[in-house]
Amino acid sequence: MSQETQSYKAELVGVFGCPVAENPTVVMMEAAFQARGLNWRYLTIEVRPEDLAEAMAGLRAFNMRGIGLTIPHKVSVIQYLDRLSPEAELMGAVNAVVREGDALVGHNTDGQGFLRSVRDDAGVDPRGKRIVFLGAGGAARAMTVEMALAGVEHITVVNRSPGRGQDLARLLQEKTPVQAEFTHWQGEYAVPSGTDILVNATSIGLYPDVDEVPPVALSSIGPDLLVCDVLPNPPYTAFLSAAEAQDARILDGLGMLVHQGAVGFQMWTGVEAPIDVMRQALERVFTA
Ligand code: NDP
Repeated sequence: MSQETQSYKAELVGVFGCPVAENPTVVMMEAAFQARGLNWRYLTIEVRPEDLAEAMAGLRAFNMRGIGLTIPHKVSVIQYLDRLSPEAELMGAVNAVVREGDALVGHNTDGQGFLRSVRDDAGVDPRGKRIVFLGAGGAARAMTVEMALAGVEHITVVNRSPGRGQDLARLLQEKTPVQAEFTHWQGEYAVPSGTDILVNATSIGLYPDVDEVPPVALSSIGPDLLVCDVLPNPPYTAFLSAAEAQDARILDGLGMLVHQGAVGFQMWTGVEAPIDVMRQALERVFTA
C-alpha cells in the first residue's frame, strides 16, 4: 500500500467585492494554479459593505490562505487586519491579504504590478526618471508610492480635483524620497519636456466610453516618451493609439493587471507565478 497520504482539501483564496461578478481574476488565478499543479481554489465572493466584518471572520474560520479586495473594501478592510506592509500603510489601502500563521497581513499589489510591467514588459528602469501621472485616485496613489520607493526622481500629479491631487503630492513629498509636485488639470495638459514616462491613471476611456481620451496636447508627446495606460480592457486604448501615432513607446494596463496578480499568487503560494499562462488566460477573456 502507498505510504503517501492523499489530501482532498484545497487551499482557499479569492476576492471580496461588490459588485464582483464581472471581475475576471479567477480565470487568471485558476490557470496559474493548474499550470503549477497546485490544489488551490480562487473564489469570487460578493460581500456587501455591511457584511465585511462577518466575511473577514469567515475567512479566518475557513482557514483561507488570503483574500483579494476590490471595490468598495480596499480601505474599510484595514480595521480587520493584524498589520500592514509599509507600502499599504503609506497608500492607506489594501488589495491583497496574506495569512501568516494566525495573523492577517495587508498588502497593496497594484503599484508593484505597474512597477514590474514597466521593468519587465517595457524594459525601462524607473530609477532617476521623471514621471507624470494623470489622476490621483486609488490606482494613482498605489502606483506613485511604489514608483517613488523604486527610485524615481520626480513625479508630477495632474488631477482635475485639486484636493485629491494636492493630498497625493504632499504624501509623496513627506513620506517618500521622490520630488513631487501637483498640477491642476484644466483644459489640455502639455507634457513638460524632459518627461520620461506619462501615465493615464484615470478612468477616462473605461468601457463603454472607449473612444474617450484624457485631454493631453498630442504635440507634447514624442518618441522620447513611454506612454502607459491603466485600463486593461480593451488594452489597446484610444489614448495609447493616439500616443503611438506620435511615435511614443506604449505600455498597456493588461501587463499591470497580470503582474499584480502574479505578485499576489507568489505571496499566497510561495511559488513563482507563470506570468505567460496568466497573461494568455486574461487575453482570452478580453477577446472573447
Ligand atoms: P478612482 O475613482 O479612485 O480615481 C479616478 C481618477 O480618474 C481620479 O483622479 C479622477 O479625478 C480621474 N477622472 C475620472 N474621470 C475624469 C475626467 N473625466 N476628467 C479628468 N479626470 C477624471 O479610480 P481608481 O484610481 O481606483 O481607478 C482608475 C482606473 O484604473 C480604473 O479605470 C481602473 O479600472 C484602473 N485600474 C487598473 C488596474 C490594472 O491592474 N490595470 C488596477 C487598478 C485600477 P478626480 O479626482 O478629479 O475625480
